[in-house]
Parts: sequence; C-alpha cells; structure tokens
Amino acid sequence: MIKLSDEEYEAVRLARQLRIPFGITPYYLSLLDNEMGSLRDRAVRAQVIPSLHYVQSLAALKARSDHSMDFMLEHETSPIEAITRRYPNIVILKPVLTCPQICVYCQRNWEIEDVYSPQSVLSKKKLNAALDWIAKTPEISEVLITGGDPLLLANKKIEAILSRLAAMPHILRIRIGTRTPVTLPQRISDALARSVGRFHIPGKREVIIVTHFEHPYEITPQAMQAVQQFRRYGMEVYNQLVFTYYNSRKFEACLLRQKLRLIGVTPYYTFNTKGKEETKDFRVPIARLIQEQKEESRLMPGTVRTDEIVFNVPGLGKNYLKASQHHDIISVMPDGRRVYEFHPWEKKLSLVDTYVYRDVPIYDYLKRLKADGEETADYRTIWYYY
Ligand code: SF4
Repeated sequence: MIKLSDEEYEAVRLARQLRIPFGITPYYLSLLDNEMGSLRDRAVRAQVIPSLHYVQSLAALKARSDHSMDFMLEHETSPIEAITRRYPNIVILKPVLTCPQICVYCQRNWEIEDVYSPQSVLSKKKLNAALDWIAKTPEISEVLITGGDPLLLANKKIEAILSRLAAMPHILRIRIGTRTPVTLPQRISDALARSVGRFHIPGKREVIIVTHFEHPYEITPQAMQAVQQFRRYGMEVYNQLVFTYYNSRKFEACLLRQKLRLIGVTPYYTFNTKGKEETKDFRVPIARLIQEQKEESRLMPGTVRTDEIVFNVPGLGKNYLKASQHHDIISVMPDGRRVYEFHPWEKKLSLVDTYVYRDVPIYDYLKRLKADGEETADYRTIWYYY
C-alpha cells in the first residue's frame, strides 16, 4: 500500500524474522505519503516503520543477559503483576500488552507483544488479583488503565474492569490511556463511549481519556469523531506528546496543539524521548524542549499551551523541566553531550538517589536538522537553554 525504501523494507523483514512486534493499521497507513523520501510524512512514518538500527540494536540488547530492557524500572515499583505504583496514590493497571499498532519508540517495548497477540491479554485470575489489590489499598485514588491499549479489549471486558473499580469508594478518578483515537478511530463507537461514560459521574468519579497524538498529520475527521464520541458523554480528552526528532521542527508542536484544541483535546504533557540505545534516532536535546516552550509555545494563547514539558526519570517519575531547581547541568562530555543531574520529587521527604543523564549533543541535532533541509539559524538560541 505504500512504497518503502530498500532499508525500510529490510528493517521490516528483519523485525518479522526476529519476532520484534510490528504492525500498522490500514487507517494509519493511509496517513502516510505514497512516495519515498518525502519529508512531509516523516513524523508518522518513523513512528511505525522501524529503522535498521532499531531492529538490530533491539535484537542485540534483548540477547544480552547483563542488560535490562525495563528502562523505567517498572518492575521495581510493581507490588503485583500488571500494576505499577510510582506515586503513593496513583497506580497503572495493564490488562493487555498489545496495541492496534506498534510505535517504534514505545517505552514498554520490552513487554509489548505483537499486534492482537492473544497471549498479551492478562488472565482473568491475574486481573482479579490486581483489582483485589487495588480494592485493599485505600490510599489509591486514581487508576490509569493502560497497557498496551485497553480499548482493544471487548466492550464487556472494559465494562467489567470499570465496574469493579467503580465499586471501590476510594477510587475518584479512572484514566484510560489509549492511542486508539489516533490509530484505529473506527473502534470508538457510540456503544463503547456510552458504556465507558456510564462510570463518569460528576461530583463522584471522573473518567478521563488520555491519548497520544504526535503530529498534525494525525488530525483527521475520523480522529475528531472518535474524540467527540467521548466528549458527548462528558469525558475530557487529554494528549500526551512524545517530543522526538521527527516532530521537533520549529512550530510543529504549536500547530499540533492548535489542531488538538479544535477537535476537543487538551494538551497535557510533552515528554522527552527516553534515553534508550535502540531509539537514539528519536532523541532530542533537552535544550530543544525548553526552547520550544520558551519561544514558540509562549506565543500561543494560554488555553492552547496547556502542556507541561517533562523528563521521565527511571524509577522516580516525572521531573518538570520548566522548574530549573529540579535539575542541574553538571558536566559537558568531550563530544558535546551535556550531563544532567535530576533531583527526585520526594527529595525533601526521604533519601533518594539523584539520576544522572547524558543527553544527545546539540551540535549533532543541529547537523541532522540541516541535512533534512532546516534553516539552523532559526534554532541558534538553543545553546542558551539547559
Ligand atoms: S500505543 Fe503506547 S503502548 Fe502501544 S506501542 Fe504505542 S507507545 Fe507503546
């Protein structure tokens, strides 16, 4: 359905051979340009078609016994299978570990299974044990149901999970983390939105949808229809953007925010891409995130620039990059990489180690932009941010 370069073809072939999860919905494929080397669709293309570097390094890293793929250290904060608890009163519940399509930069690529793989669904016994654990933990007030993509489950199963959570008086908010409005908007039927909306009761319990649009190319009439289905039943829809090389050009994120607001989505977080070896092609210097917020986003109305820029620290959680007191620049490597020290959010409450991070060199980022036709003079103030 689309033309692939020789390298893209080889990367997909190798991914299949090595059983690396891969899949694109026909709808999402229709968003790609039917020509090779067009830079216009690179943000959507790079999300779903892996590079050879990605496939080869992921296979090599998985084979190493001394390397943990669990980059965010979710296992260390998991009290029971399918639950992650990084904050005292919020938990993540993962009833299914696959998605309608696979994002190459997925932070959970270590546990995500092939698209629609039947073994990716948590067994009834394990799901009940996880729900029992939440029921017996009254400090938990918010549950993020994610995965994978929970809206891949049958309506009845989704309703059963929501019913159990709704029966726990301490649960005040249920967040559903789903990319389905972006990758398979046809799935968001009136029946699904109505059955989820039944649990959204103002004054008692909030159900919100957190989705993941990455680029203006993904804003379509179908995606808007999917978002509006939820809003019709009173639910808010928020967006989490992963800021990657492919959507980091000047004003690209601003255009996305404008379009999101128009279809009914509120920008919520903008994440720095994880510092994983296999996804290094996606990484952007932290200075570019801060520059984007201080120079481009700053020009937008307050109702549009509602997102926070965030560095997600493995094992520690979100670090707000605009709050300069929460991180320090402690060194610059010979190749120009800046080294940051991130302070844990709970540092005043208990002794927790800081996290040291080596960023990608700003100079390399600018050279790459130049090779892709950008005018690097437009980015020259990037050096002032840290
Ligand atoms: S939708 Fe989310 S969980 Fe699924 S592959 Fe993409 S980033 Fe990973």
